[in-house]
Amino acid sequence: MAGSRDYTRLFDLTGRKAIVTGGSRGIGRALSEALAAQGANVAVVVRSSLDIAEDLVAGFNASGGDSFAIQADVSQPGDVERLAAEVEARWGRADILVNNAGIIHPGPIDDYRLDLWRDTMSVNVEGVLLMSQAIGRLMIRQGSGSIINIGSMSGRIVNWPFRHAAYNVSKAAVHMLTKCLATEWAEHKIRVNAIAPGYILTELTEDVLRDNPEVVRDHWAKGAVMDRIGTVDELAGAVVYLASDASSFTTGEIHTVDGGLTLR
Ligand code: NAD
Repeated sequence: MAGSRDYTRLFDLTGRKAIVTGGSRGIGRALSEALAAQGANVAVVVRSSLDIAEDLVAGFNASGGDSFAIQADVSQPGDVERLAAEVEARWGRADILVNNAGIIHPGPIDDYRLDLWRDTMSVNVEGVLLMSQAIGRLMIRQGSGSIINIGSMSGRIVNWPFRHAAYNVSKAAVHMLTKCLATEWAEHKIRVNAIAPGYILTELTEDVLRDNPEVVRDHWAKGAVMDRIGTVDELAGAVVYLASDASSFTTGEIHTVDGGLTLR
């Protein structure tokens, strides 16, 4: 079939309503900024203090728009329901959900504490489930939507030398949940994809960088065929692609952005 699209607007998100969890710092902040730059209104979800998120959305709204900051713990069903109710009351719809919030409690398996395992699963896996259910209800009702889960290369490989099995297992679950949601919700015209980043410089990783420069040199950067770790802005293109009509025939995909680390 001959193309009939206006390709100049393929990545345009003008007026779309996006929710980004953990959206005020690190990767989530860059993803929020990228979506806003393409014209989306963004609900920046934060676990605790609203201050930074409010500054961020004030910038998004400076030239018009209806972005807002909201506090919610994605592992708490009551918080997630309140968040979805706020989105519905304010926007009446939801076009894009980015499940970015995530935590890591490193530690070897032999004596790993069950409370840390459960905490990891409750944020990284149940958080994605709860948010997808609550915002997915709006998407199902309107018959459209794009959900983007932030997985990890750690959901595909056992990255080394640090031991963090709980995190790895949680991200593998995020990848499989992405595929299950994509399959179940295709009939509602909701696409569900994941981004699997490699090592990216953020608050989450910079302490490790500072304390263990040799690990970065000998493992993190060296592992990637591009011989470096990534920056948060190098994930912006992936989220805009998966959120926009540019990826209209893509669902259930785990989109790797890792400088080639998982190639070998
Ligand atoms: P970060 O710690 O800088 O940001 C995580 C954000 O999630 C924070 O804003 C935090 O407040 C929020 N959050 C945590 N628990 C929450 C909860 N219960 N409810 C609501 N918000 C919560 O980390 P980051 O490096 O920006 O990581 C973002 C995502 O990318 C995570 O899912 C992480 O697993 C994933 N990831 C990161 C890397 C990396 O190298 N940085 C690599 C692969 C995947």
